[in-house]
Amino acid sequence: MIPSHHPPDEWLLAHIAGTQSEGVDLLTASHASYCPQCRDRLADLQDVAGQYLSQMPEQNVSGLDALLANLPAQEQPQAPRPSRHGFPAPLERYLGDGDLEWTYVAPGVKKISLGFSQSEMPVRVIHLAAGMTVPTHNHPGLERTLVLSGGYDDESGTFERGDIAVADGSQPHHQRIHKGAPCISLVVADHPITPVGIKSTVLSWFFES
Ligand SMILES: [Zn+2]
Repeated sequence: MIPSHHPPDEWLLAHIAGTQSEGVDLLTASHASYCPQCRDRLADLQDVAGQYLSQMPEQNVSGLDALLANLPAQEQPQAPRPSRHGFPAPLERYLGDGDLEWTYVAPGVKKISLGFSQSEMPVRVIHLAAGMTVPTHNHPGLERTLVLSGGYDDESGTFERGDIAVADGSQPHHQRIHKGAPCISLVVADHPITPVGIKSTVLSWFFES
C-alpha cells in the first residue's frame, strides 16, 4: 500500500541537507521507507541541489554551501527490508534487537520512548488498541505522526500505514482507531497535549511522563 499523506517539501530538503531535528528526520526517513513517491522526490531534490551547488561561482558560495555540503553524507532511505520488529530501518536502529519494551500508559495505550526529545517532548512509539477512541485534545505546538501499522480517522482524514499526519493547535481532534488491529505510530510532538474535557485530562496525566 502506497501512503496517501506525505511530508512537506521542507522536511525532505532538511533531510537532504542534514539540518532537520532528530525526531522529524526520523519521521521523514521512516516515511520514505514506505513511500516510493517520496524516495523519488528526495532523489530529484538531491540532484537539483547538487546542480545548483556545482553551478555557483566560487565567490558566491556562502551560507548555503554549509547547508549543501552535507549532501553526499546523507544516506537515502531504502525500500523496507525484513527487520526485527517489522518497522522501517531508520526506526529499528533505536529499538535494539530484543523484544519491544512497552510501558503501560492507560487501558489500551502503551508507549516506547526512544531516548531523545523534540523540544520538550520525548519522541515515542505509541500503541493504541483496535477500536478505541482517544479523548478530544489539542496541541499548543505541532504533533507529527507516522502510522507504522493499523490506522485511524480523525477530523482531518483517514491515516494508515506509512501516512504522516500533522496536527496543530487550530482544531482539537480525537483519533478513532480502526477496528480489527491496533494502531502503532511514531509520534514527534513539540509540547504536551492540551486536554479538552475530563477524559483527556486524565489521559494526559499518564501520557506526558
Ligand atoms: Zn511520501
